[in-house]
Amino acid sequence: MKNIDPSEIAKFEALASRWWDPSSEFAPLHQINPLRLDYIAGRAVLDGCRALDVGCGGGLLTEGLWSRGARVVGIDAGAAPIGVARLHARQSEAEIDYRITTAEDLVQQKEASFDLICCLEMLEHVPDPSLIIDACSKLVKQNGRVFFSTINRNPKSYFFAIVGAEYVLNLLPKGTHNYEKFIRPSEIDRWARACNLSVSSMIGMTYNPITKKYKLSDDVSVNFISHYYKN
Ligand code: SAH
Repeated sequence: MKNIDPSEIAKFEALASRWWDPSSEFAPLHQINPLRLDYIAGRAVLDGCRALDVGCGGGLLTEGLWSRGARVVGIDAGAAPIGVARLHARQSEAEIDYRITTAEDLVQQKEASFDLICCLEMLEHVPDPSLIIDACSKLVKQNGRVFFSTINRNPKSYFFAIVGAEYVLNLLPKGTHNYEKFIRPSEIDRWARACNLSVSSMIGMTYNPITKKYKLSDDVSVNFISHYYKN
């Protein structure tokens, strides 16, 4: 049994051709991309590091990591996002190793370990997020860095990330997110600790509907990034 939800992969496959259009369904990812890249770059050495982007989609963060000097492998379970990512990398003259595969499969294949692993906005789309976290832990070097981002689970995140983003502001297609799949930071922490990952820092990303801008903030009640290191 693979830890993949085919209906989730199909959603991203259907939208993939618009991945790099900043006014498309992927607008929120475009907007948060520089923020999260800066957050990661402030906490991990990117230049010259060997990095893995798990669930990389069309490659927004992947190219960002590459542009800051990382040697990057980008993986996604969907063929269409990887196709788009490869095409865009060619246009950007970015040398990125894109593969249609999963973190668990890389562990099986005994892939050489990484200095940095990012798994952003993906855990809320898989059947068992703890297995992804465990695979990331197996793929990262000792003292290597792992970044996860997802959406917290509480009444406020339901209101902002589903009602607000999908039904009021139409930032995302209806049905993009499923409330039950949202993950509390404490849950990521529990799964991470069970596989020798310790929390190093955490940050929120908040959206202001008036200015239509995201910013990094201490408020982790909706979107958040957590940063771990391997013991
Ligand atoms: N991480 C990217 C894309 C997020 S969208 C970003 O933040 O910019 C979520 C992506 O995860 C989609 O491209 C989807 O195909 C992929 N995905 C979902 N389940 C997966 C799995 N089990 N293994 C690998 N990729 C998966």
